[in-house]
Amino acid sequence: MPDPNGFLRYDRRLPARRPVPVRISDWREVYPPAGEELIREQATRCMDCGIPFCHDGCPLGNRIPDWNDLVRTGNWDAAVESLHATNNFPEFTGRLCPAPCEAACVLGLGGQQPVTIKQVEVEIADAAVARDGLRPRPASTPTGRSVAVVGSGPAGLAAAQQLARAGHTVTVYERDDAIGGLLRYGIPDFKLEKQHIDKRLAQLTAEGVRFRNGVHVGVDVTAEQMRAEHDAVLLACGALQGRDTPETPGRELRGVHQAMSHLVAANRVVAAAGDGRPALAALPDGTPIDAAGKHVVIIGGGDTAADCLGVAHRQGAAGVHQLDLYPQPPTERDAARDPWPTWPWLLRNYPAHEEGGERVFAVAVQEFVDDGTGQVRAVRIAEVTVEKVDGRRIVTPLPGSEREIPADLVLLAIGFEGTEEQPLLAQFGVTRNGRGAVDARGDWQAADGVFVAGDMHRGASLIVWAIAEGRAAAAAIHTYLGGVGELPAPVDPARQPLAAR
Ligand SMILES: Cc1cc2nc3c(=O)[nH]c(=O)nc-3n(C[C@H](O)[C@H](O)[C@H](O)COP(=O)(O)OP(=O)(O)OC[C@H]3O[C@@H](n4cnc5c(N)ncnc54)[C@H](O)[C@@H]3O)c2cc1C
Ligand code: SF4
Repeated sequence: MPDPNGFLRYDRRLPARRPVPVRISDWREVYPPAGEELIREQATRCMDCGIPFCHDGCPLGNRIPDWNDLVRTGNWDAAVESLHATNNFPEFTGRLCPAPCEAACVLGLGGQQPVTIKQVEVEIADAAVARDGLRPRPASTPTGRSVAVVGSGPAGLAAAQQLARAGHTVTVYERDDAIGGLLRYGIPDFKLEKQHIDKRLAQLTAEGVRFRNGVHVGVDVTAEQMRAEHDAVLLACGALQGRDTPETPGRELRGVHQAMSHLVAANRVVAAAGDGRPALAALPDGTPIDAAGKHVVIIGGGDTAADCLGVAHRQGAAGVHQLDLYPQPPTERDAARDPWPTWPWLLRNYPAHEEGGERVFAVAVQEFVDDGTGQVRAVRIAEVTVEKVDGRRIVTPLPGSEREIPADLVLLAIGFEGTEEQPLLAQFGVTRNGRGAVDARGDWQAADGVFVAGDMHRGASLIVWAIAEGRAAAAAIHTYLGGVGELPAPVDPARQPLAAR
């Protein structure tokens, strides 16, 4: 029986982050392990609600009150089982998820701070590794059916694990040199050390999943060949088409980049240093990857921008400005706009913000300013108002508000425009919709025998959604192949996050 008064006895507490001067001198994760005492105390704050809204906040349907109580009572083995029943990779979501479950926690209704669900999750996930090193669970009986998964991000990997455990022969194709999708080279090590991916990959390999990295499907191997070799194909190619700003004067200058090209290159340097490989020193246009001594301007306010900020600090930037088009959000939920249990619009302070840099809200870049040699030396910004008219965004500069910010390196982190246009799409007979995503029918098929999941289907989203869609698409493929029984399908293709109507 859970402790109904736990939240009255204990305040919400998270483990202390590593001190800023220490952590920006390396690339290791920001949070140290929490320690059993703190985690059991925090799990005690869960009331085990009759209607646990945290469930609805999480697209995976994680059994949050169950594992909170198992942790409270020190029953770690059962907590590990319960968590893995709904989530293939809690070590990723526990570290990286923005935790819509916490925004939906019932404690938030009464003015209390939500349960630290995500922290409990990551401690259970790490306990799983410590206990049995992620014991493989290979299928006992092979089905003789074969599935190709294209893309090795969290959606592709979750689907691959579900299908392999159901007895299908699964091959994951990845065009990059390493498996993991955005987890591998998109997200920096200070948020997710890559050892966590490698441990999972060892488990998947032992469960029979085959990995073919360095294979660009649609280029190195055709859709026709894939269809001939496999009984079903899952496309999980992500939404990696970065939004650009070609109309802004000076966009062509040296030193102005898509955030992802800089971030991926910088993360590759860290990966190479870890295993002794040589790494690129510059991007293909000659711009150095290292921000050391540079004035960096990051344009955008999301995860990608915050990751660029943390990278710039660790590289020793002279100064960093992060520019956001929108006004500064409130620090507390605006209940009229975003009532509980929906995801609130709030000022989100990532650990990278604690490390330095200046955030400038409600501004838009008018020009990237040339130093006379074709290299950017500043950005000229103006204060703006933003309004939506007939669904269109109207940005209006305030006359006389223009000023310059020094800039040697400008990173565009202004969002994604869906999955990339690439040969694979036409070869498989699928098309991008108006949002740049690929639509799926109710059974996750985008064309006969071709399934789609993750960001490629949803548009740029979150890891938790990618895993949920990967699991659901795997369930649909299992049925399509005539597999025995049913696999869990936490979401359908039309499912959206909780929102006020
Ligand atoms: C910088 C950054 C930081 C982020 N931080 C967070 C965070 O903290 N928390 C969070 O929840 N989400 C975060 N996200 C979002 C999250 O990473 C994505 O939602 C998630 O990775 C999507 O998973 P996916 O499997 O659909 O695709 P991806 O992870 O994008 O993987 C797709 C893979 O498909 C491969 N591919 C594409 N085409 C082909 C082809 N033709 N042949 C072979 N392979 C192909 C690509 O190389 C890629 O590896 C972040 C995103 C970015 C860009
Ligand atoms: S909503 Fe919060 S308090 Fe209620 S069961 Fe979920 S985590 Fe526990």
